[in-house]
Amino acid sequence: MRIARYSTGEAAAFGIVEGDGSDPHANAAELTVRRIDGHPFAPFQVVGDPQPLADVRLLVCTHAHADHYGQAASVVDASGCELWMHPAHEHMRAGIDDPDELLARRLEVARQSGVPVQPLREWSQSVRERGSGIARLVEPDRELISGVVVASDLGRWTVVETPGHAPSHVCLHEPDHRLLISGDHLLGRVSLYFDYGWTPDPVGEFLSSLDAIEALDARLCLSGHGRTFTDVRAHIDANRALVAQRLQGVRAAVADHGPITAYEIVPLLYGEALTQLTAGWWLPETLCYLRHLAVTGAVVAAQEGETERWARA
Ligand SMILES: [Zn+2]
Ligand SMILES: [Zn+2]
Repeated sequence: MRIARYSTGEAAAFGIVEGDGSDPHANAAELTVRRIDGHPFAPFQVVGDPQPLADVRLLVCTHAHADHYGQAASVVDASGCELWMHPAHEHMRAGIDDPDELLARRLEVARQSGVPVQPLREWSQSVRERGSGIARLVEPDRELISGVVVASDLGRWTVVETPGHAPSHVCLHEPDHRLLISGDHLLGRVSLYFDYGWTPDPVGEFLSSLDAIEALDARLCLSGHGRTFTDVRAHIDANRALVAQRLQGVRAAVADHGPITAYEIVPLLYGEALTQLTAGWWLPETLCYLRHLAVTGAVVAAQEGETERWARA
């Protein structure tokens, strides 16, 4: 069993691709719509009937993360449909073209950020074992950039570029029903994640992307995880508030304890030290806050041997 993303009018959902998908007319290859509440890797609840993959006419990806794009190739292979996605998917392609190189780069960033050798070794082992979660690289047939329209039976969806969570992230807006497919940019529960190392300032980009979707004045949000929700503006504000709070936390950590490494900031920010589970998430997030504070002139980085330490500007 492998996993792809799927959305319906009532719920955001996971599509489970069963079988190998080699024969589009075989029963084994089908898309089962299952709802998921909360985190993507929580237990499933089946809410819909299986739909043949062969019926899929167009695959539109909000961004190139494995839990949204991972089975794009399987869907394309089984249905012959086109894939539309934003062109800035280098962050995904790098993990397929040369996974060892990407891992080496991430390890180098972690080492520079002050992560000790032993947990780093264990983390790299677990990353290697986990793999990319992507069946095969499939390039988009059409680039989803701002202004592109996706026609559907429900209406015309206009693409809005919303980088920050990922460089390739887009939302889709349907103005007549005031609907927004928000991917991972805006979720029902505030949960921040930023891809580090691909763009100059992911946190700044994320904040600008919140402004961009606020201007749409959507009524109902169909998010990439969890249930749909209505009070879109309140969710945008909650994201802004948490970003501001974390930025303030990083700023205070640097002011009180600087020069300090990103690794040392993590427990001050999250109340817990970095673990195998949180390493791939909290460290890039913390680095993205530092990057934003550096871009806005609040902190500076200084190299101490091979380690990067942060101080007040
Ligand atoms: Zn994502
Ligand atoms: Zn996701």
